[in-house]
Amino acid sequence: MSTLTGRTALVTGGSRGLGAAIALRLAGAGADVAITYVRDEGGAREVVAKIESMGRRGLALRADAADAGDAAGAVDRAADDLGGLDILVNNAGIGVLGPVGELTLADIDRVMAVNVRGVFLASQTAAARLRDGGRIITIGSCMAQRVPGPGGTLYATSKAALIGLNKALARELGGRRITANLVQPGPIDTDMNPADGPFADAQSALTALGRFGSADEVASLVAYLAGDDAAYITGTELSVDGGHAA
Ligand code: NDP
Repeated sequence: MSTLTGRTALVTGGSRGLGAAIALRLAGAGADVAITYVRDEGGAREVVAKIESMGRRGLALRADAADAGDAAGAVDRAADDLGGLDILVNNAGIGVLGPVGELTLADIDRVMAVNVRGVFLASQTAAARLRDGGRIITIGSCMAQRVPGPGGTLYATSKAALIGLNKALARELGGRRITANLVQPGPIDTDMNPADGPFADAQSALTALGRFGSADEVASLVAYLAGDDAAYITGTELSVDGGHAA
């Protein structure tokens, strides 16, 4: 595994779940790491304390990805406070599931604001702030590749939009050796999708491995993409889904 010593990172939505595991993995590899959160201040503080216990700088920023100013501003704040930025991990995301006819305009606006516009604005600001050789790693979903049942119109639409954004970012930033990659997790045990939830058995059955993944299993792919070993990987979608798309 490449070292990330001397690198700085921002992980959006890092107070718990996948984002927390990613932030800790990057810090474990040597990076100073900022995270954003909205509600879970206690979780954010805990993640920062763990980062600092590894001898790295940690920073918790309250920033709502649904707010345009916050989404872009968090990147500037992280870059300013950490002394530059090498890695942006667009992780913050929400899932609103339900029959297409029952989704409200407010549902549509909220999910698109967090899952698409927030990612776009953070990436746009990162394009200006990342050092050459930097990384943009975005967390999409296996639902952009295979929608296994009803109820996923809005979430799948939002995550599919990230495929185009990711490819376009790779083309635009490649000249500065900045890579952009999309990680598409399958069912991962978090608050958003607990492995003992009502739909868990059905989701496990959809994977080739017959189980949920852990946040750490996603974090290890993100850490790989963040490192020098992945310098020639860009504009692509990588699944960490237990074979959900197989
Ligand atoms: P969780 O709901 O467990 O955690 C979400 C994290 O994002 C929290 O830290 C939360 O912070 C933060 N967050 C939520 N809304 C916002 C917002 N508006 N602005 C800033 N931060 C926000 O989710 P997961 O860890 O499961 O999901 C992380 C990502 O992985 C998402 O993009 C999700 O779509 C994707 N994903 C998850 C899968 C799964 O099975 N778990 C599968 C495929 C993709 P706070 O509590 O402080 O608001």
